[in-house]
Amino acid sequence: MSEEDEKVYKGRIKVPYSHTAGKYVKKFLEEIGKNQRIMGVKCPNCGKVYVPPKMVCFKCFKKMDEWVEVGNQGVVNGFSVVMHSTPVMPLKPPFGYGIIRLDGADTDFVHLIKEGDPSKLKIGMRVEAVFKDHRQKKITDIEYFKPV
Ligand SMILES: [Zn+2]
Repeated sequence: MSEEDEKVYKGRIKVPYSHTAGKYVKKFLEEIGKNQRIMGVKCPNCGKVYVPPKMVCFKCFKKMDEWVEVGNQGVVNGFSVVMHSTPVMPLKPPFGYGIIRLDGADTDFVHLIKEGDPSKLKIGMRVEAVFKDHRQKKITDIEYFKPV
């Protein structure tokens, strides 16, 4: 069959789905929603603090169940600036997606960065979580991070 014989149909599909957050992410989201506290879990072997929390240390394969509060502030370890709007954007551009290492954590946390001039985002700059007033125990209860 030649390319000329093929008929290509283009379309979009909508795939509804649901999944469980799991015990650890549920607690993580509840602490953010109820108490505006960001919690991680600490490995009993290597001491690494994971945010968001994981059940098992990726390095040691030890089960982790020591919960520790980390800071609402952290350092930007990477970022991307969004300049163009699409219907699925969580905020009106311009804003940034940041790879953030919260104070007291040993892993990075991806979230939005807003406020200030996005062209001034820099690796190493400090940011702080901005919580929504009306929280629903979702990751979007942290509306975004702002430079400090
Ligand atoms: Zn470990």
